[in-house]
Amino acid sequence: MFHDSILVLNKSWTPIATTTMKRGFSLVFQDRARIVDPENYEMHSFESWLVGGSLPSIEQPPEDERWLRTANLWIRVPEVIVLQRFNGVPRRELTFSRRNIYRRDNFTCQYCGSRPGLKQLSIDHVMPLSRGGRTSWENCVVACVKCNTRKGDRTPEEARMPMAREPFRPSFNEGVGLGVGMPASWERFVGVAKREILE
Ligand SMILES: [Zn+2]
Repeated sequence: MFHDSILVLNKSWTPIATTTMKRGFSLVFQDRARIVDPENYEMHSFESWLVGGSLPSIEQPPEDERWLRTANLWIRVPEVIVLQRFNGVPRRELTFSRRNIYRRDNFTCQYCGSRPGLKQLSIDHVMPLSRGGRTSWENCVVACVKCNTRKGDRTPEEARMPMAREPFRPSFNEGVGLGVGMPASWERFVGVAKREILE
């Protein structure tokens, strides 16, 4: 899913989207975005990117990197771009799914803190379905089968089973971090790593 993707940062370097290689190059061509070198955080125009990010087409680029072949050149595909003007954070929904709840809660039972593996994990409705609880980001948490059974048709308060944290709807920034197979360079721009750069 990330194979052909470029991470898009807004002007303040907050991750706001992913885009395709084609669209990413187009934003850079139009001078609406700069390419970020994830190694040293230097920003590049298309021209300055070519200085270190291109090879004659007769050469073979490293296989573990993403390169685009044009008529005369191999061009290194950017992993991250930063928008020149846009500074907002568009509201984006992360798909509500069982898998993404597991990821949000880091495959960890929110009641006892154990990580027993997928087969022993379940989704618990904090306010039970039978009592009007909804199936939503805010009412679903990961629970091990043991805790889920123990809690039964009670709220955490009634069962005296405090949660590690309140369930929440993940933002896009957190959602990027949920992705499996995300390029390593992106990790520097999302979640904790991002805050370290900005502070
Ligand atoms: Zn548990």
